[in-house]
Amino acid sequence: MIPFIDLKKQYRRIESQVDKAIKNVLEHGQYILGPEVAELEKQLAELAGTKYCLACSSGTDALLMAYMALGFKTGDAVFTTPFTFFATVEMIALTGATPVFVDVDPVTYNMDPAKLRDAIVKVRAEGKLNLKAIVPVDIFGQSCDYDAITAIAKEFGLPIVEDGAQSMGALYKGKRVPSFGTIGCTSFFPAKPLGCYGDGGAVFTNDKALYDRMFSILVHGRGGDKYDNVLIGLNARLDTIQAAVLLQKLTLFKEEIELRQTVAANYAKALAGLVQIPAVAKDCVSVWAQYCPRSKDFAKIQAALKEGGIPSARYYPIPMHLLKAMEYLGYKKGDMPVAEAIAEDIFALPMHPYLDAETIETIRKIVRSAL
Ligand SMILES: *Cc1c(COP(=O)(O)O)cnc(C)c1O
Repeated sequence: MIPFIDLKKQYRRIESQVDKAIKNVLEHGQYILGPEVAELEKQLAELAGTKYCLACSSGTDALLMAYMALGFKTGDAVFTTPFTFFATVEMIALTGATPVFVDVDPVTYNMDPAKLRDAIVKVRAEGKLNLKAIVPVDIFGQSCDYDAITAIAKEFGLPIVEDGAQSMGALYKGKRVPSFGTIGCTSFFPAKPLGCYGDGGAVFTNDKALYDRMFSILVHGRGGDKYDNVLIGLNARLDTIQAAVLLQKLTLFKEEIELRQTVAANYAKALAGLVQIPAVAKDCVSVWAQYCPRSKDFAKIQAALKEGGIPSARYYPIPMHLLKAMEYLGYKKGDMPVAEAIAEDIFALPMHPYLDAETIETIRKIVRSAL
């Protein structure tokens, strides 16, 4: 069985450095907010091109910190996508705010800006909810159309929280994810393009006041002193050991983004004409967190792959508005036709920087014979 994401190959490349970095933390003993955390934040802010970065305990907590810092609450409308991982929407609901879904673009699977504007105008006309924020998600490694989304955000005076959990480092017009929001969020879950060896995440911003607020939220709403709590916060710090791991993985990251381009190009060549291959929009460089083609015969293909020892997956079989947990919002099938159509026939193939051409050729043969 070949791995879906080969993290061991990556580890072998930097094994001695990672081992040494972890040992170093064990020796210096600053397990919480040790020097590696500050160094990581500095390097991540440089990579993303933002003024500030704050490392935290997961992508989910990054979103929650951003939502809390912006004051999401009951009665607020937050515009987001139905085609994402649940955490994006789950944390909106946790704050008490109401997720309002905006259907996606059929080519990029990302929020459709034209539909975003329609949704905002509709909620404003209804007058029941307060227009609060926009939460676009850069799905599968590719950035949203931020020129269009930012123009709409400005028109209505709304902040953007960018969920870049799957797309750290991706490019849009030469700038990197997640630098496009008022606050940008990412995840270092092991399977993400930049992952650690446990849970981790980070928030990014250029706004000093929001940075200060999120720093306070990160540590139980602390004020000037540890026991002077000024806000309701969380314990959402990134472990020093994970920061040490990430600093080593960062030494490979840009090269790995390049390698992912080759893997995606090999896939596109191999699978053209067999399945609908995923597309990258003009102005975008994807980090290919996932390689997700579409085919009405996906079940046949997946069965044949399994037979041949090739793992595959489905992201995401149920769009957010049709999940049981979101039933209380009152959406029904047919409300988000594009996301629903994608969910019906999308599937995911193995994707990582070290996936070789032979394995892709094997996958091509299996897909071909399955069809
Ligand atoms: C993975 C992911 C998250 C959550 O990140 P965790 O680190 O697993 O908490 C949030 N949003 C999206 C789009 C994700 O893919």
